[in-house]
Amino acid sequence: MTPLLPSPDHYLHNLITMTSSEAKRLHRRAIKEHFNCQCVYCGITYEPDELTLDHVRPRCYGGPTLTSNLVPSCKKCNQAKGSNNWLQWMRQTFGPTSREQLILQHIN
Ligand SMILES: [Zn+2]
Repeated sequence: MTPLLPSPDHYLHNLITMTSSEAKRLHRRAIKEHFNCQCVYCGITYEPDELTLDHVRPRCYGGPTLTSNLVPSCKKCNQAKGSNNWLQWMRQTFGPTSREQLILQHIN
């Protein structure tokens, strides 16, 4: 398991890696592993390479690229959610699910 740290820079500061591209790769992998390689929105399990990372609070609204704002998402969900409010979009698309709690715990 890759340790789950708050940002790519933490992998450098903790000397887990020496290069920033490797730090970004580890950061992305740790988030996917933390969620057992499941898309947090639809709940389907994917290969790590098939998952993207979604900014829960969209980048265009100032959402940071930090662990606390990133969740694994399949390409389909990531695209469909776009810059919508994640909870509104999720409820409209899937109805209420226990996955909402997973996301809330992660972002708070
Ligand atoms: Zn999905």
